[in-house]
Amino acid sequence: MPLGSGILKGFATVFKVGARKPATIMYPENVRDIAYRFRGQVGMRRDEVTNGLTCVGCGLCETACPNDVIRVDTSEGEDGTRVVDRYLFDVGRCVFCYFCIEACPVDALQRTHDFHLVTEDRRGLLIDGFKMIDIYEHDLENRSLEDQNIGPGTRPRLWFGDD
Ligand code: SF4
Ligand code: SF4
Repeated sequence: MPLGSGILKGFATVFKVGARKPATIMYPENVRDIAYRFRGQVGMRRDEVTNGLTCVGCGLCETACPNDVIRVDTSEGEDGTRVVDRYLFDVGRCVFCYFCIEACPVDALQRTHDFHLVTEDRRGLLIDGFKMIDIYEHDLENRSLEDQNIGPGTRPRLWFGDD
């Protein structure tokens, strides 16, 4: 092998690879389209009457979750009915199996397309039921496209830190 041919070959490889279209994108400035059936963060439906959580505090999602993600704190109201004091969801532990969604008897929990789960502080991964309502409502546009079955993919709206 002539002297220096290895170096030239190395440079040729560098230029060849450098000229290729990048396989990665600059996130979060750019986001890829995702599949309609993409499993994103679990959201919560808003109760149309109370404007609060649809959750009735039965605890079935908490029991169904294999990864100890959900915590539901309830108490007894003045009229003897169950009151949901706090609904907590640790996004960092969720494996998106959706067992919780299947378990919920009132369809309070809903699938969303949201994958913007990045945070600089683990405490930001602990969200409550009202944040889950935000997530669900921000995703309604995507749900509607999915229901109409338009096109091969959908572009989710950014929501974390947007408003
Ligand atoms: S999607 Fe699965 S892991 Fe995540 S909260 Fe629901 S049951 Fe738990
Ligand atoms: S299963 Fe549904 S209603 Fe029951 S605690 Fe979970 S979210 Fe609330």
